Parts: sequence; C-alpha cells; structure tokens
Amino acid sequence: MDKKSENVVWHNHSVTHEARVAKKGHKPCVLWFTGLSGSGKSTIANAVDYLLYQQGVHSYVLDGDNVRHGLNGDLGFSDGDRVENIRRIGEVAKLFVDAGLVVSTAFISPFKDDRSLVRNQLEPGQFFEVYIDTPLDVCEQRDPKGLYKKARNGEIKNFTGISSAYEAPENADIHLQTAGKSVEQCAEYIVQALVDAGLVKASV
Ligand code: ADP
Repeated sequence: MDKKSENVVWHNHSVTHEARVAKKGHKPCVLWFTGLSGSGKSTIANAVDYLLYQQGVHSYVLDGDNVRHGLNGDLGFSDGDRVENIRRIGEVAKLFVDAGLVVSTAFISPFKDDRSLVRNQLEPGQFFEVYIDTPLDVCEQRDPKGLYKKARNGEIKNFTGISSAYEAPENADIHLQTAGKSVEQCAEYIVQALVDAGLVKASV
C-alpha cells in the first residue's frame, strides 16, 4: 500500500484504551468469522451479537455486504481487491477494539495471509479466528442468495469455492462445524468460548 499519510501524527487520546475497557466490564476482541459463502457467517455472527447484547456486552457486527456497499464500495472481487477489502476491515475492527467492543466480522476472507495480517495488527488475545466450517455441498444446497447457481453458470467470476480458492484455517481459535447444528447452538458455542477465554462473564 502507498503511504500517503507520512506527516499525520497519531493524536494521544485523553481517555485511554484501558479506561474504556474498565468501564465496559468485559474485554474487547475481534471475532473474525471466515468460511465459504452461505456457510453461516452472517447468521451466526448476528446470533452471537444478540446473545452478547442480552448479556450486557457491547458488541457490533461488520457484515460483508454492508461494508461492500459503503466503505469498500469501490472494490471488486479480484485477488488484489479482496486483499484491500480485508485490510480495510481489519483497520476498522481494530478501532472498534480500541473503543472497547467485541466486534464480529463476517467476510469470506479466503486467504490465510490476509487473516494473519489482521491478527498481527492486534494485541495477543484480541483476535479470534472463527472458522465457520460448512462443507461446500451444504453451502451450495443452502445457496441463500442464489450465488452458487450463478457461479456454476459462469455469471459470477472469481467465486470462492468454485472458481477462486478458499484457504481453510489450520489452527482456528474457534472451529465450528455447523452441519447438523442449529444457529442457536452455534452461537452459544462461540459465546462459551469467550467465557472460557475470560473475555466475558458467564450468563446467569
Ligand atoms: P454467509 O454469511 O457465510 O454467506 P449466511 O449467514 O448469509 O452465510 O447464510 C447461511 C444460511 O444457512 C442461512 O440461510 C441460514 O439460515 C442457513 N443455516 C442453516 N443452518 C445453519 C447453521 N447451523 N448455522 C448457520 N446458518 C445456517
């Protein structure tokens, strides 16, 4: 990336990150959902958000489609644009963590290097790679947006799993196989992982 901001000086905030975290009563982190299209990233991220909200945890979801319409509306699906897409989302997620939130991101994010890049932008313990592991044939059967059909017909180029690679995580912090599980079970599994990691308190 070209650095066009060499002379910009980072302003020291009067309210520190630690002070923001202390006020929230939970620790902030990124839940970085990755998986094929239709694997359940958005659905599960929203269900996790709902559970966390009910538990008084300040959370937010950055969703692929929403971000692509706004912040990343200028980007397409070439390898280069996918890298830039993830880089920008990583930067935004980092700001949310600085503000003290649990932020879930729901993007295919098919490349290992890009996911590592985001992990390295954050402090240890602030980044959870959440692998939504749903077999391609199940995703294709679900096809919630009719995209697989279009990809198979050649109407969509560079479609992950069909005509573009998906590099599955090898050591995901949270590895969730969704086939045969309800959305609620999946969401509870992830919230429990946050409780186990000491980021949020167990619900009563
Ligand atoms: P993605 O964000 O990964 O593209 P979506 O969340 O948009 O995927 O779509 C997943 C689809 O699969 C939804 O229609 C959802 O209702 C369905 N689904 C069925 N079972 C599950 C499950 N256990 N977890 C998540 N989604 C599921």
